[in-house]
Amino acid sequence: MAVVGFDVGFQNCYIAVVKSGGIETISNEFTDRCTPAVVSFGSKNRTIGNAARNQMITNPGSTIFHFKRLHGRLFQDQVVQTEKGCLPYDLVPLNDGKVGVKVAYLDEEHHFSIEQITAMLLTKMKEITEANLQKKVVECVISIPSFFTDSERRSVLDAAKIAGLNCLKLINDNTAVALNYGIYKEDLPGTDEKPRIVAFVDMGHSALQVSVCAFSTGTVKVLSTAFDPYLGGKDFDQRLVEYFCAEFKSKYKLDVKSRVRALLRLTQECEKLKKLMSSNATDIPLNIECFMDDKDVSGKMNRAKFEELCGDLIERVRVPLVAALEQAHVQLQDISAVEIVGGATRIPAVKAQICKFFKRDVSTTLNADEAVAKGCALQCAMMSPAFRVRDFTITDAVPFPISLSWTSEADEGKSCHEIFGRNQPCPSAKIITFYRNKPFVLEAFYSDPDSLPFPEAKIGEYKVQNIQPQQNGEKAKVKVKVQVDCSGIVSVTSAMAVLRVSADDETTKVNGEMDNDDGIDVDAQDKTQETSSDQLSIDKENLQTAQCPLMKPDLNHTDALSMNGEVNNQPPDAKKARMKVKHVGLPIEKMTTQQLPKERLSTYIVQERKMIQQDCQEKERNNAKNAVEENVYYYRHKLEGPFQTFLNAEDRRTFFELLNGTEDWLYEEGADQDKQTYLNKLEEIQKLGLPVQDRYQESIKRPQMFEELSAKIQNYMTIMEEFKNGNDNYSHIDAMDMDKVKVCVEDTQLWMTNMQNSQDKLAPDQEPSIHSTQIQMKLQALNNICEEIVSKPKPRVDYPMDDDIQPEPQHNKKSPEDVTMEYTDFVQNDAEHKHIE
Ligand code: ATP
Ligand code: MG
Repeated sequence: MAVVGFDVGFQNCYIAVVKSGGIETISNEFTDRCTPAVVSFGSKNRTIGNAARNQMITNPGSTIFHFKRLHGRLFQDQVVQTEKGCLPYDLVPLNDGKVGVKVAYLDEEHHFSIEQITAMLLTKMKEITEANLQKKVVECVISIPSFFTDSERRSVLDAAKIAGLNCLKLINDNTAVALNYGIYKEDLPGTDEKPRIVAFVDMGHSALQVSVCAFSTGTVKVLSTAFDPYLGGKDFDQRLVEYFCAEFKSKYKLDVKSRVRALLRLTQECEKLKKLMSSNATDIPLNIECFMDDKDVSGKMNRAKFEELCGDLIERVRVPLVAALEQAHVQLQDISAVEIVGGATRIPAVKAQICKFFKRDVSTTLNADEAVAKGCALQCAMMSPAFRVRDFTITDAVPFPISLSWTSEADEGKSCHEIFGRNQPCPSAKIITFYRNKPFVLEAFYSDPDSLPFPEAKIGEYKVQNIQPQQNGEKAKVKVKVQVDCSGIVSVTSAMAVLRVSADDETTKVNGEMDNDDGIDVDAQDKTQETSSDQLSIDKENLQTAQCPLMKPDLNHTDALSMNGEVNNQPPDAKKARMKVKHVGLPIEKMTTQQLPKERLSTYIVQERKMIQQDCQEKERNNAKNAVEENVYYYRHKLEGPFQTFLNAEDRRTFFELLNGTEDWLYEEGADQDKQTYLNKLEEIQKLGLPVQDRYQESIKRPQMFEELSAKIQNYMTIMEEFKNGNDNYSHIDAMDMDKVKVCVEDTQLWMTNMQNSQDKLAPDQEPSIHSTQIQMKLQALNNICEEIVSKPKPRVDYPMDDDIQPEPQHNKKSPEDVTMEYTDFVQNDAEHKHIE
């Protein structure tokens, strides 16, 4: 199982994997570790990442970037409408009211959901990883901003599914960084000591995120998270863009904003300028040739002026820093370190502002670009059964308070209760007890909409079904489990009726049990319950019981607070009637949820597969076309050089005609053909080219092979001569065997002479009479017959044992070290010897 972490940024994506026991950030096909979050659509295929970024200016209407913020949002959403005004491509409402993008793809108008666009990016990241690891990638951990709400998180999970990924967990950006920071620390305080408090600040292209974390040996607990979702490097670029737009208007009378391409070029140049200003305080020029109306433009900027333009943005950096500290209930002096990550923390004024606030130098021990991805990969490794990772527990924080509301049976009004407070541990689950006669609906929602960077507070509606009064007519006691899981997803996961039934009547059927649609019996239902709590057992310490101060009369019952399944207020006659408790699982119907409906998800999965196939076919078509082009240049170059003499004048002229004709064809009719047409063309060229190439290559290989064969013949002749002269080395060889060698050598010699003679008569442009592979085979045959004979070992001579020979004295025996020493000396001497030479 591959262990993979994806940092999907607003602008940049990074991939980290576990490789040879360590965490590594990997590079894409451009040897770039950063893959831009850009997807571009063309008339034949999609391009994603670096290649797509290059299309931003040439194909602005169908090149999608800056889309992370659109996850889970409706078209009418204010954020979407604001973004719409800044993006060069079109945003459109989809059938479900969610926002989608409109692009021209395969020469047709297409609407894609944001989940699909992110899925395309993930597909690319998956492919990069698979190419790097040489194995299939399915399981992964993906990072998201901590301020993402349930809808946005579900939307990213759907995107992962569309891309064929099984996202084991969505991890908050800063939590990934904290994990990457803490897991390698050897000097963390013990669990019984005061924890080490570290603040993490990540400013990326779109957002600023802050978290305060408490580290102890083997654990990190996120105490608080705070953020400005609309403050990132992009906003600093925008200030420069505004400045130069105004300057070019007065200086060159150019209305930059009226031209999409010019505005995009200026934005890119401003970002470069911003980066240069991070390491340079002097004036920096901005020059763009042929900017608009064939005019070149120029301007300049320096850090002081830039900071003046961005004064309010820099001031805003303080706000989440204050909030994070306040929410964590820690003082400045409690903070042991401030770690900064994210590209935009390189802006000196941003860094200075963070230092000023914390009244200390900030640390940059982590790689600002890769820390999130590495944290994701670590988390994935921790969740993978195939890896053993040092024990390290992460307790994240719920970013926004979550409440549950329900209709009160008693007063027909609505009751609500906060289930998870802000910064409460996550993952976490709570069990709430209700008394009901009939099915009822629960609604989960974010209870502080003002603090929510998302317009929809509602999370989901769940109907608890199959509830009927107890045998004795009393209301059924219903326990409902609500959880916020490790990805920060909120759901009502299970419901259970706790019923009192007569113990006398063993055959008594429990209400609902018979009527159960699934026909599941009580035991099986109980098993379901067990499984779901097992799944939660990863966070047993966070499994908390409900405290319901706001409960209405029907709920404000001692039983409602009595958890763990025991019923402790049975009527006094209960014992007499010999009652016993049964647990019956109740089905939960999700009435609304922010996730994509199953059918649509399936359609998107199929569409994505088709698009992958289409890209693949287009890649193959392009490769075939490139092969034709490469072959044209290759043969033309060779025909003018080393291949010249290996074809006659007539063939040479024909070949040149074919090559020149193909080159022209490639620019005209052949510019856009299918793969097979290119393969046919390639075959046509190679039909003429390969024999010429072969003759040329043979002209080099053949003499070499003849030489090798000749040397071997010579070698055996020498041995035969020595045998004849009675050389002791060969005296043990049978004369008949040596005759075999002789015959074979003479045969081979004759064959070689004949072959050389006939080949010598041929011109280089004629088909050779002998191929180097044939010579190779002849050499092999000679070897096979002769080598065994001539290298036959001499028989061993056993001398009679001499009784006087004493065993070697023990002290003379060489220890292995002695032997090694001797060898070492030898090597040294040898080296010396060489040196002297
Ligand atoms: P987000 O975290 O908001 O989703 P992201 O992860 O894509 O966005 P990063 O890759 O962390 O963002 O940072 C990109 C931002 O950092 C861009 O605005 C880029 O211009 C800025 N940046 C990178 N290097 C520098 C630098 N040397 N000086 C100033 N800004 C820089
Ligand atoms: Mg980021």
